[in-house]
Amino acid sequence: MKELTHQQRKIIEESIRDIPDFPKPGIVFKDITTLLNNKEAFGLTMQHLHDRYVDYNLDYIAGIDARGFIFGAALAQMLGIGFVPIRKKGKLPYTTISQKYSLEYGFDEIEMHIDAFRSQKGARVLLVDDLIATGGTANAAAELIAQADASCVEACFIIGLTFLEGMEKLRKKTNVYTLIEVH
Ligand code: AMP
Repeated sequence: MKELTHQQRKIIEESIRDIPDFPKPGIVFKDITTLLNNKEAFGLTMQHLHDRYVDYNLDYIAGIDARGFIFGAALAQMLGIGFVPIRKKGKLPYTTISQKYSLEYGFDEIEMHIDAFRSQKGARVLLVDDLIATGGTANAAAELIAQADASCVEACFIIGLTFLEGMEKLRKKTNVYTLIEVH
């Protein structure tokens, strides 16, 4: 199914658990572990992503640390393509390229191996994470893909928080697709 029906979207949406005030007061954390352990919701999610991207002629999926690894690696396997982890600073063992991005207070940094796309110039890459909030992480990840001379053809998230401007900012760099939008 390239398009989710209303009913299918509802099954996925209702499988995601809201945890108020985690990790700090005022944040509603969208817990996707209850999507993952729900075989119907996880199955629908992955089948839909497969059907959407099967004709995109992708070379790689790049997943963002850590929940982007779960969806991204499963999708790469379904599509028969390679998977690349984009990790928090200091976790990758080989030579890396890195990008800093601002948080509410201070900054964070993500890294990718310099040869992540096997030095394939212009590789077609889909960026995957569970959720986009301010878009800081995804923007930095898209920069890393560009820095590696690859092309980020789309960024895909299970959940998009539309009350923040992350999706709009990222749209200046690449296409953005979300399964569920939270207003
Ligand atoms: P941002 O850089 O602000 O777009 O934050 C995106 C990253 O933080 C993603 O990797 C998400 O997994 C995580 N994140 C941010 N806000 C939430 C939230 N409300 N619920 C769950 N995860 C979140």
